[in-house]
Amino acid sequence: ALTAGIVGLPNVGKSTLFNAITKAGAESANYPFCTIDPNVGIVEVPDARLQKLTELVEPKKTVPTAFEFTDIAGIVKGASKGEGLGNKFLSHIREVDAICQVVRCFADENITHVSGKVDPISDIEVINLELILADLESVEKRLARVSKMAKQKDKEAMAEEPLLIRLKEAFENEEPGRSVEFTDDEMKIVKGLHLLTVKPMLYVANVSEEEISDPEDNEYVKLVREYAEKDNAQVIIVCAKVEEEMAELDDEEKKMFLEELGIKESGLDQLIRAAYDLLGLATYFTAGVQEVRAWTFRQGMKAPQCAGVIHSDFERGFIRAETVSYNDLIETGSMTAAKEAGKVRLEGKEYIVKDGDVMHFRFNV
Ligand code: GDP
Repeated sequence: ALTAGIVGLPNVGKSTLFNAITKAGAESANYPFCTIDPNVGIVEVPDARLQKLTELVEPKKTVPTAFEFTDIAGIVKGASKGEGLGNKFLSHIREVDAICQVVRCFADENITHVSGKVDPISDIEVINLELILADLESVEKRLARVSKMAKQKDKEAMAEEPLLIRLKEAFENEEPGRSVEFTDDEMKIVKGLHLLTVKPMLYVANVSEEEISDPEDNEYVKLVREYAEKDNAQVIIVCAKVEEEMAELDDEEKKMFLEELGIKESGLDQLIRAAYDLLGLATYFTAGVQEVRAWTFRQGMKAPQCAGVIHSDFERGFIRAETVSYNDLIETGSMTAAKEAGKVRLEGKEYIVKDGDVMHFRFNV
């Protein structure tokens, strides 16, 4: 499964946020195939459409889809040189598909800041620079080999060399791989390099409980937003402490709590959805009287692959998929009405599933 890694300097609120994630954790009975790893937190993906479908179909059970966060502790200045848990830390980042960087935007005198004062941009730069330096090292190593082969007129090496040189220049200018533009062919090579700074990044601004109602007044948040805009990255605002408290509440209590704070959606829920989008994930539904359920697929996946998300047998024996869009189903009011209105399509093997499709797979066993 795709996973987003949570990183950040010490004392910025990573553990607090990760606690909130594991406490809010998905009911594991529903997700028996998910990883059991203390550093992985599995959360349910909030999706208002699921509630609507439940009202419409009245199933025995409703199951949201799930998403994994991985806690990656241990970055300090000098990680790329092997300081602290440096190497281990970097190898863990290599394994995740997107990075959520927690940035301290709360001023609390009782909590030490590693560099002496709260300074979110300098914090971000420390981390990003470590990642860039690690990538620079990978690219330099690779370039040394590839250049030799290019001299011997190796075709592939000759194609790769200029790309590596471009990447090296970007890293030397302290620019992340995310900011470099690649053609489709180059992208294939880049994937094989397992670089850290080409992974999509999201900044999680951790503000204090006093400021969560009006976080845009927070000067630190403004700075992070400005920085993220240049970096082509998104910003999500949370108060990790509030999220941790909220994770213990049931839905009704949570709603009241949010109303008291004057916020619409919890920061954690926003983070889950943002990370999900960042990874190019989307949701389709199955809606039967037994169960209404959301399933995760990668944007661009075809119907048989999507069927395979439920069970590999569904993919192998795929025949067709009865498909109606969520909006058409809600508008017509029932599956029968949707059929009568000609909104239910029979889609074949080449159909590219869309976010919100309600699917019924037909397959041979
Ligand atoms: P980590 O080292 O990044 O994992 O940081 P922790 O999650 O352990 O947090 C460090 C300290 O900051 C702890 O004492 C937390 O209670 C505190 N902390 C974390 N988030 C917040 C927050 O949103 N507001 C305040 N006031 N304190 C926080």
